[in-house]
Amino acid sequence: MASEFRCPMCGATFPSEAALKQHGAMHMGGSGGSPAASPGFACAACGAHFATEAELKAHGAKSHPM
Ligand SMILES: [Zn+2]
Ligand SMILES: [Zn+2]
Repeated sequence: MASEFRCPMCGATFPSEAALKQHGAMHMGGSGGSPAASPGFACAACGAHFATEAELKAHGAKSHPM
Protein backbone atom coordinates (compact mmCIF):
# COMPACT_ATOMS: atom_id res chain seq x y z
CA MET A 1 0.00 0.00 0.00
CA ALA A 2 1.51 3.29 -1.02
CA SER A 3 1.10 5.98 1.56
CA GLU A 4 -0.71 8.98 0.24
CA PHE A 5 -0.90 12.45 1.62
CA ARG A 6 -4.46 13.64 1.74
CA CYS A 7 -5.51 17.27 1.97
CA PRO A 8 -7.84 17.59 4.99
CA MET A 9 -9.61 20.52 3.38
CA CYS A 10 -10.59 19.21 -0.03
CA GLY A 11 -9.65 15.53 0.01
CA ALA A 12 -7.16 15.72 -2.84
CA THR A 13 -4.30 13.24 -2.56
CA PHE A 14 -0.63 13.73 -3.33
CA PRO A 15 2.32 11.37 -3.71
CA SER A 16 4.57 13.42 -1.46
CA GLU A 17 4.33 15.63 1.59
CA ALA A 18 6.02 18.41 -0.35
CA ALA A 19 3.30 18.34 -2.98
CA LEU A 20 0.63 18.35 -0.27
CA LYS A 21 2.23 21.33 1.46
CA GLN A 22 2.44 23.22 -1.81
CA HIS A 23 -1.23 22.50 -2.41
CA GLY A 24 -2.10 23.40 1.19
CA ALA A 25 -0.71 26.89 0.73
CA MET A 26 -3.56 27.46 -1.70
CA HIS A 27 -6.08 26.95 1.11
CA MET A 28 -4.29 29.36 3.39
CA GLY A 29 -5.30 32.27 1.24
CA GLY A 30 -2.64 34.73 2.26
CA SER A 31 -3.11 38.47 2.33
CA GLY A 32 -5.60 39.95 -0.07
CA GLY A 33 -7.75 37.10 -1.32
CA SER A 34 -7.24 33.80 -3.08
CA PRO A 35 -4.24 33.25 -5.36
CA ALA A 36 -4.76 33.19 -9.09
CA ALA A 37 -3.38 29.66 -9.18
CA SER A 38 -6.43 28.39 -7.33
CA PRO A 39 -8.27 25.98 -9.63
CA GLY A 40 -11.93 26.64 -10.16
CA PHE A 41 -14.15 27.76 -7.30
CA ALA A 42 -13.70 26.80 -3.67
CA CYS A 43 -16.53 26.68 -1.14
CA ALA A 44 -15.83 29.19 1.61
CA ALA A 45 -17.68 27.03 4.13
CA CYS A 46 -16.03 23.64 3.63
CA GLY A 47 -13.27 24.16 1.06
CA ALA A 48 -14.66 21.83 -1.58
CA HIS A 49 -13.56 22.63 -5.11
CA PHE A 50 -15.78 23.05 -8.15
CA ALA A 51 -14.98 23.72 -11.79
CA THR A 52 -17.74 26.24 -12.26
CA GLU A 53 -19.45 28.87 -10.15
CA ALA A 54 -22.79 27.22 -10.94
CA GLU A 55 -21.59 23.95 -9.36
CA LEU A 56 -20.32 25.85 -6.34
CA LYS A 57 -23.67 27.58 -5.87
CA ALA A 58 -25.53 24.29 -6.25
CA HIS A 59 -23.25 22.74 -3.64
CA GLY A 60 -23.81 25.65 -1.26
CA ALA A 61 -27.59 25.38 -1.57
CA LYS A 62 -27.46 21.63 -0.87
CA SER A 63 -24.74 21.35 1.73
CA HIS A 64 -24.91 24.67 3.48
CA PRO A 65 -28.55 25.81 3.51
CA MET A 66 -29.16 28.95 5.50
ZN1 LIG B 1 -6.91 20.85 -0.66
ZN1 LIG C 1 -19.21 23.55 1.04
